[in-house]
Amino acid sequence: MTRMITCHTAGNRGVYFRRTFTAAGPVKKAVLRISALGIYTCYFNETRLGDEVFTPGRTSYSKRLQARTYDITDLLEEKNVIAVQCANGWYGKTPKLFAQIHLSYADQSEQTADVSASWRVSDEGPLGFNDMKLGEFYDASKELSGWTSEKYDDSSWKTPEFFEYEGELIETEGEPIREKEVFAPVAILSQNDGTSVLDFGQNIAGYMEFTVTGQAGEEAEMVYGEVLDQDGQFTQSNLSFAKNRQTGKYPQTVVYKLKEGTQTWKPQASVHGFRYVKLTGWPEEVKAENFRAIAVYSDLKQTGSFECSDPLINRLASNCRWSMKGNYLDIPTDCPTRERAGWTGDAMVYCVPAAYQMDIYRFTKKWLKDVILEQNPDGSIRNIVPDGGMPVFMDGAAGWSDAIVKIPYELYRFYGKKEILEMCWPAIRRHITFMENRASMRKPWHLNKGAHYDYVIDTGFHWGEWLEPGTSMPAGALKGFTVPDAEVATAYYAWSAGKAAEIAGILGRKEDELYCRQLHEKVKAAYQKEFLPHGIPESDRQCRFVRPLALGLARQEDCSAIAAKLNEMILKNGCRIGTGFLSTPHVCRVLSDYGYTETAWRLLENKEQPGWLYEVRKGATTIWENWYGLDQKGKPVNSWNHYSPGAVIAWLYDSAAGITPLKPGFEKIRIAPKPGGSLTSLNVSFDSAAGLISVRWEKEGNHVKLIAETPAETEIILPDGTEETVPAGSYEKEFDII
Ligand code: BGC
Repeated sequence: MTRMITCHTAGNRGVYFRRTFTAAGPVKKAVLRISALGIYTCYFNETRLGDEVFTPGRTSYSKRLQARTYDITDLLEEKNVIAVQCANGWYGKTPKLFAQIHLSYADQSEQTADVSASWRVSDEGPLGFNDMKLGEFYDASKELSGWTSEKYDDSSWKTPEFFEYEGELIETEGEPIREKEVFAPVAILSQNDGTSVLDFGQNIAGYMEFTVTGQAGEEAEMVYGEVLDQDGQFTQSNLSFAKNRQTGKYPQTVVYKLKEGTQTWKPQASVHGFRYVKLTGWPEEVKAENFRAIAVYSDLKQTGSFECSDPLINRLASNCRWSMKGNYLDIPTDCPTRERAGWTGDAMVYCVPAAYQMDIYRFTKKWLKDVILEQNPDGSIRNIVPDGGMPVFMDGAAGWSDAIVKIPYELYRFYGKKEILEMCWPAIRRHITFMENRASMRKPWHLNKGAHYDYVIDTGFHWGEWLEPGTSMPAGALKGFTVPDAEVATAYYAWSAGKAAEIAGILGRKEDELYCRQLHEKVKAAYQKEFLPHGIPESDRQCRFVRPLALGLARQEDCSAIAAKLNEMILKNGCRIGTGFLSTPHVCRVLSDYGYTETAWRLLENKEQPGWLYEVRKGATTIWENWYGLDQKGKPVNSWNHYSPGAVIAWLYDSAAGITPLKPGFEKIRIAPKPGGSLTSLNVSFDSAAGLISVRWEKEGNHVKLIAETPAETEIILPDGTEETVPAGSYEKEFDII
């Protein structure tokens, strides 16, 4: 139990806490350990502690909560004050604060002061209603002038109430969340209703800072959105937002009530997905120099850089990075607008793309711990972590729940740390058992299927391939309830069992390895019998061809024919993308691995709808959730900042540049570039766990000049048939593509 303080009357308003103290003698060291259910901004003797925002970050609050320890020795004075502003944050309820001061005196004695009745609390400050996603109301005329100073008179403040937190208070495991890039408006757009909309040119997650001059009591309203409609008018309709009952406003709305004069302010309790901000009731002329959009995300080290001769592909790479930034706010999310949820499937399809772009180890390990903590007693993995709130019967969905296998496995491959596999193993094993139990049940109309069907999953809720071109979200979800896609469910059952065997092998768990290997073989055989009875899938859907190849489920002798058919289908489709959520990350790789590199490039370079470069051509600055982010009438639909379809960025690193780990942590490297398409040059670098790898190629006709730098022993495989192993250092070669 951890005792915290709160203010029950605050409801959804901001809460202000203060405590003054005087040290009992000369102090050698003073530290403050702090956390909150909600988010806090802490001042010690008027100095803001740390440069992070949205502390203490997001975990499964019912289980654990992160705390930070600040060294405040140098800030100590004779009389001291800690002043903390708290908001609801991801917690979504009246915030609770934990703060502990520890003093080590020069005479070796120690003193600890926990939260207690000596704190003062107020819910009558400027921060009113606040919600991470809905927005916030701030009344500058209510600012508590000087409240972070020891001299402030808080006698009218209340005594706090106590709250016993039952979860575990832990040291911070995630990465710091910081304010990052700042954007000035690129345009001010006049709207039909007389309002102005600021266009910041880039879709981000963050908030807007502004300077305004006006009279006390004037109200300025800002609504954040990602798109304009086909008539150039601001809209949130792509996000299906409805007015919130409590606020009477649309989500992502910030209302600022002015104090007298000139003032500069930015939100403190909410974050928004936006490129555009609509201003209503702005008290003065809207001038660009008064506004700045600030991107806010987990401050991970950038590891990958990509550049090529095609500006549209460069923009695609930038869009993938921006969608990652917009969705890496302490946990990996689907989008920074509509749901902002830690969907396991989204994190899974983007873990490799993410690892090529930034160092995701620490960030992802923290989230995986919550995935494990929230695993259901039956072994199913939740759809959304943390605290997703989805019904439990929908958990264990194929391709989403397998995040518990895929993500630690990829982290091990990229960073070479076995600890991540050790940490996840018990959860992986329980996930396998869950799938075995699920496979032991059958839909009644499949009772007469043969013994192989004991290894087919056709029950439970599954999202299926999800969002293939031509499908809609509601129809896809309905199908998941009624006729779950057994092909998808069985494929991931087989794949996860196989990977679990490999992981058990790495961990030296012989029995588990053998068990999972045998299970994998049985499920794979069942998959082949049920879904590939004639070797080649009988389907007109591209995903049915991509999946058995990508997940290694087809019979060896059938693979080339399946790839040939996939190639044929894609060419026939005018090289437009035909896959959904689960197969899109694999489609280009499957093509190029089976010798259809040119088709992979044509698929990537296709500029018609649906296609990655179609979005770029239409001015996208992040990745769209749906291939039809613009419907036939040009109306924006669904989220415009969903990184999952941008998983193709991994192909540009692992195939176009050809950089992959041959041994975990890039202790041994493979460089197998696949130049092609209309590109004349490509320049990729990746700061791997073993050091910087760079691959640069220039192409003229069929002739390619390759220059690579590698920090470790490297196997080079080139399209002209060259295969050689070289030591760390520079490598140069000219060759012809044959
Ligand atoms: C989310 C997805 C998620 C999905 C489940 C959607 O509403 O935005 O990205 O994975 O639901 O299929």
